[in-house]
Amino acid sequence: MSNTARRGLPSVDRLVRLVEEQINGTLPRAELVQIVRAVVDAARRQLAEGVAAPGIEELAQEALIAVERLLRPSLRHVINATGVVVQTNLGRAPLSPAALAAIQSVAQSYSNLEYDLDAGERGSRYNHLTALLARLTDAEAALAVNNNAAAVLLALACFCAGKEVLVSRGQAVEIGGGFRIPDVLRQSGARLVEVGTTNRTYAHDYAAAITSETAAILTVHRSNFRVVGFTHDPHEMELRHLAHEAGVLWIDDWGSGSLLRPERYGLAAEDTVQDRVAAGCDLVCFSGDKLLGGPQAGLIVGSSSAIGQLRKHPLLRALRVDKLTIAAMEATLLSYVQGRAEQEIPVWQMISASSDALHTRATALVAQLREMGVDSAEVTSCESAVGGGSLPGQTLPSWAVALTTTPDRLHTQLRSGDPAVVGRITDERLLLDLRTVLPHEDTTLIQALVAALAQESPRS
Ligand SMILES: *Cc1c(COP(=O)(O)O)cnc(C)c1O
Repeated sequence: MSNTARRGLPSVDRLVRLVEEQINGTLPRAELVQIVRAVVDAARRQLAEGVAAPGIEELAQEALIAVERLLRPSLRHVINATGVVVQTNLGRAPLSPAALAAIQSVAQSYSNLEYDLDAGERGSRYNHLTALLARLTDAEAALAVNNNAAAVLLALACFCAGKEVLVSRGQAVEIGGGFRIPDVLRQSGARLVEVGTTNRTYAHDYAAAITSETAAILTVHRSNFRVVGFTHDPHEMELRHLAHEAGVLWIDDWGSGSLLRPERYGLAAEDTVQDRVAAGCDLVCFSGDKLLGGPQAGLIVGSSSAIGQLRKHPLLRALRVDKLTIAAMEATLLSYVQGRAEQEIPVWQMISASSDALHTRATALVAQLREMGVDSAEVTSCESAVGGGSLPGQTLPSWAVALTTTPDRLHTQLRSGDPAVVGRITDERLLLDLRTVLPHEDTTLIQALVAALAQESPRS
């Protein structure tokens, strides 16, 4: 055994006092004692295995790192340089300043969440968003729940439990994150009746499957994949006619549900939520945090009678939206009503950002990096995606900062930074696509890069 080992370990108490001086009261003593004890225990085990005991400074350093790790939030700021606008793993839609202000205003004090200020009596949280949603989608009524999965589950549980629901084989899909249409149907208590084939489903396939047990036709946005080639889906007029004739509901899971026309932004044409309502769906369910660009929520718009029944269903209590969501959603919807969605809502700012503007930013960033002595950065063109299961296969031309030296190691460094930066590696280069980097994050991105590159270079 070495001398260090024989000297043994410092007392927990001594180590606690040493670390305490350095953490400025950010942790109560009892917590610190626990951390220090764990550090000393680990060192003692090492000692038993014949490994030299670390010095007190080294142990203090370990304890400090453990304290930092404990105090560092698990959920934290990430700069999204992936080029995927609605990136589900990175929290989907960033909120508009107006939405953030609304959250702050409602969160830091009391609100009329369930209080009718005019009447001076109990009100309903479900009233706050109804008028705006109905106005924007031309639906009679609306309801917001926790997320779109909840919206679909609630609609099915309310109207189809114990009954049959017709779904095209081409739409019995998995969206990701555990959302599979057949599973959601089962959970709701409804029975799935698949109609048609994977690539071709006709109105007569639905018609032939309708029985006295049928409660609804469920149509599902394919979201994350496309069926191309020899395909057929019934026309909306046919579905509407069928559902009405048979007296069954037409429930539509419209996924990312845009209120704006994607074709105005160089993307393929696709129905908006308004279009689905106009097509005659009784209920349209869509996400609040995909192309709408608001907080996580499931929005349901449709007929007053159907929405009225949903509002009375006991499951709604378990799926309800909280006040922060309502606040942020209301502000987001107001941007649409005011015709300012493209200017104010980050998702649409990013989708509508011109290739030229992104090129200018990329060039400026690379110039700054070069000035700071980073030679491995270059401007490169790339393709961004909308993501979030919206508009699959479609891309937007974009510009990135590419880093050519040890891209994998650099990416790892960037991910461990604060804020973390996530990009993508293509052709042995780390691409940081500027379409999804919020413009006010450019300076932070430079700082993060310089810090990561400094960590990267071998330390003496
Ligand atoms: C994304 C998506 C869902 C799930 O929505 P969440 O808001 O994530 O719960 C359901 N259906 C479709 C078609 C989707 O695209």
